[in-house]
Amino acid sequence: MAIEGGCLCGAVRYQISGKPVATAVCHCKNCQKQSGTAFSIVFSVKAKELSVDGALSTFEDVGSSGAPVLRKFCGKCGSPILSEIAALSHLRFIKAGTLDDTSWLKPQIHIWCDSAQSWVERDPALPQFPREPTG
Ligand SMILES: [Zn+2]
Repeated sequence: MAIEGGCLCGAVRYQISGKPVATAVCHCKNCQKQSGTAFSIVFSVKAKELSVDGALSTFEDVGSSGAPVLRKFCGKCGSPILSEIAALSHLRFIKAGTLDDTSWLKPQIHIWCDSAQSWVERDPALPQFPREPTG
C-alpha cells in the first residue's frame, strides 16, 4: 500500500514507504488554530520512511513541555502538512486530511480532550486523554 498525499495547490507532495505507526485526533488549541477548524487528525510515520517533494514553510510552535514543535505547511496555499516534535524526533506527524486516500484512516485515540469543542462527539470506545498521553 503506497501512501501519498499533498497540499491543496500541489506544490508539496509526500510519499510514505512504511506503515503508519498510530492515528490520533488532537483537540489542542494550537491544532484548532493552525487547522482553522475543530481538531487535527494526524497519523505518525517513521521519519526515515517519509519523503517530501516541494518546499515546506515552518512555524516554530512550542509544546506543553516547552520544547519546540515545528509545524510545517505549504507556503503557497497554506495547507498544514506535518509536525515535528522534539521529544519524538524519529517520527513525523502528518495531517491526515492531506492524504489522497483517507479510506484506511481509523483514529485510535483522542488527545487534548480538555480543549475539545463542546459539540464534537468522541467515540467513547476510544482512549481519551485530557492532555497529551503519558508513557
Ligand atoms: Zn500548496
